[in-house]
Amino acid sequence: MIITMASGATTKEINQVKEKIKELGYETKIFKGVKKTVIHVIGATDRERITLSVEPLPGVEKLTPILSPYKLGSREFHPENTVISVNGNLIGGDEIVIMAGPCSVESEEIVLKVAKEVKKAGAKILRGGAFKPRTSPYSFQGMGEKGLKILEQAREETGLSIITEVISEVDVPLIAKYADILQIGARNMQNYQLLKTVGRFNKPVLLKRGISATIEEWLMSAEYIQAEGNPDVILCERGIRTFESYTRYTLDISTIPVIKHLSHLPIIVDPSHPAGDGKYVPSLSRAAIAAGADGLLIEVHTDPTHALSDGKQSITPLAFQKLMDDLKNIAKIVGRKI
Ligand code: PEP
Ligand code: MN
Repeated sequence: MIITMASGATTKEINQVKEKIKELGYETKIFKGVKKTVIHVIGATDRERITLSVEPLPGVEKLTPILSPYKLGSREFHPENTVISVNGNLIGGDEIVIMAGPCSVESEEIVLKVAKEVKKAGAKILRGGAFKPRTSPYSFQGMGEKGLKILEQAREETGLSIITEVISEVDVPLIAKYADILQIGARNMQNYQLLKTVGRFNKPVLLKRGISATIEEWLMSAEYIQAEGNPDVILCERGIRTFESYTRYTLDISTIPVIKHLSHLPIIVDPSHPAGDGKYVPSLSRAAIAAGADGLLIEVHTDPTHALSDGKQSITPLAFQKLMDDLKNIAKIVGRKI
């Protein structure tokens, strides 16, 4: 529920509304605009009671219920785009932010080499999983804290910010010490305890779409993070499971305009996991930027055939450099820059 105060409403009138809402058992958030003050009522379930008690108060102009099940993430609640600063790189603004790096942190040598190459090509954020959610328990599970230390070293040497995945609640405090963005993978999109935990940290969270999740389920998961007090959620479309099996997943390009319509949160695209094959990654990347994505998360490896995870869908630094040149041109056409 949003309460719009009339222009010229006094501080006393605003406080009166705030007190009334508190009496009804809800919290408020106050946004003071140039002309008008807007009061957000958090978790307002009893709309009728709020309307009856607040509408007659002096200085109240109108009450607007938020009809979607997600509130904090909805456009109605927050009409302007959310722009998230990651060490000065703005995600969700005019600039398109490219995140790139290996699927997993495998060795210091590979990570540093990839980091330097992607930085040179224009990436701003280095990706690399140190804790890996693998389909098979017998596959490489990641280097753990050792891997985080390698990422930290890469940040020191290149100035790139770091995004890395958290797969368990217990690891969040450790990973938050090293990472600039916490990545929640597709498999954990509905791990509500994990979502609540990252919601209590003061770090941007990149929330991937679940493999079979609807857009509404995805936005409800973002809501879990925001409801705990962390407003900095970046959505990441990474393909969904459909009947088509030629590609690994099906990249749902339509989520970009749909999310832009429904929500103020930034949305980026991971073209690597839906493609499942590096040769399709440039095309999906170009399509995502043309459709309005705020950034990309791309798997890059110096030696894809020997990568310990997702080698087939990883592209080389050379292919990445070429792709960046194309993306810069497409960004210009859609009124953005890289
Ligand atoms: C990854 O980014 O390497 C990853 C595991 O992705 P997803 O959660 O989208 O499968
Ligand atoms: Mn991967």
